[in-house]
Amino acid sequence: MSMSIVCQRFCRTGVALSPRITSFLGSSSSIRRCCEEHSSRRGNSSSAHVGADHRFDISRTIRNGHNPRRGSFAMSTAPEAENPTRPSIHPTVESIRSARKSYGPSVSVGFVPTMGALHEGHLSLFRAARSENDVVVASIFVNPTQFGEGEDLEKYPRQLEKDVDLLASIGVDHVFAPSSDTMYGKNHVTYLEPTGFDKTREGIARPNHFRGVATVVAKLFNIVQPTNAYFGQKDAVQCVLIRRIVDDLNMNINVRILDTVRERDGLAMSSRNAYLMAEQRDKAPIVYKALCAAREVFESRFARGMEEVDAAALQEVVENILRTEPLISEVQYVAVDDLETMQPLEKVGSGGCIVSLACILGTVRLIDNIVLS
Ligand code: AMP
Repeated sequence: MSMSIVCQRFCRTGVALSPRITSFLGSSSSIRRCCEEHSSRRGNSSSAHVGADHRFDISRTIRNGHNPRRGSFAMSTAPEAENPTRPSIHPTVESIRSARKSYGPSVSVGFVPTMGALHEGHLSLFRAARSENDVVVASIFVNPTQFGEGEDLEKYPRQLEKDVDLLASIGVDHVFAPSSDTMYGKNHVTYLEPTGFDKTREGIARPNHFRGVATVVAKLFNIVQPTNAYFGQKDAVQCVLIRRIVDDLNMNINVRILDTVRERDGLAMSSRNAYLMAEQRDKAPIVYKALCAAREVFESRFARGMEEVDAAALQEVVENILRTEPLISEVQYVAVDDLETMQPLEKVGSGGCIVSLACILGTVRLIDNIVLS
């Protein structure tokens, strides 16, 4: 939503307010006051500054039905402000549903499902959602059905307060943070079974994982009713799965996939990186180095005029590099798959591929991938 549209309505600079926004805002006196104040200050403000002020005020107005910052135009109101308004926390389905309902169907809602312990990778999704939607909703839920036996469900990092602080700094409006009992009542029997996903390399390594992911994402989509939903390329099979769910079940949701965010040394950001001991953390960038070596092989063969590359050659180069690191106790898989379906390829042509891997470093399972095209 462009703030200048609202501003123009109330400051009478001649451009009509979009009907979507007018119907939502009605005759909000706080916006009117805000813009009147803007009008009187306009002579002193750069247009960029004014635009930012209004962006902040309107998003809060939409969320809360009032403008908590009216009269505070001298403050920095960039999206990541120092003293941001905190998102509303919703522990129940009824609560987040009623917030969603209050906006009406024409307000765009960006949704980022997470398991919390937020890092810059998550935050990149929230920033995109913030810039592309009227309202931003996060979910923080460590979903038990996607964890297998012996996995880290109990020790998965949980830090709701800290996460909410981070989300506040980005201007997220609502956080849905249900308990397991809320999501899976004692009579819960319905699961989504995404055919074939248990046969992907990640699915073989984590039996029932994608059934759990598919089920929880479908439930969250039904609860939040987003316009746009944001996911990270870091979880490559998950991205393909979400697109399938939305297509197969005819959900009216735009799926946005964003690039993997990495540490400076190339390690893909992950909540599980916190488990790495110092020495393991030092060695962890080898995972991305191995994937980059596959990219070099891929690019050099095409540069030499070859039309196809053997998937086995790409796998081998990655595995060989990973095996040079003694702290890597197991390479669970190195897969070369089709970009759209995550089905294994034997030959990689100009359509490209995705090279993905999972390995155990110390006691930590690391996954990563690189798209070659
Ligand atoms: P999680 O909390 O691990 O379930 O992740 C929530 C979302 O954040 C998923 O869509 C992930 O793919 C995404 N994500 C996790 N790590 C990264 C990263 N390093 N870069 C981009 N997206 C990420």
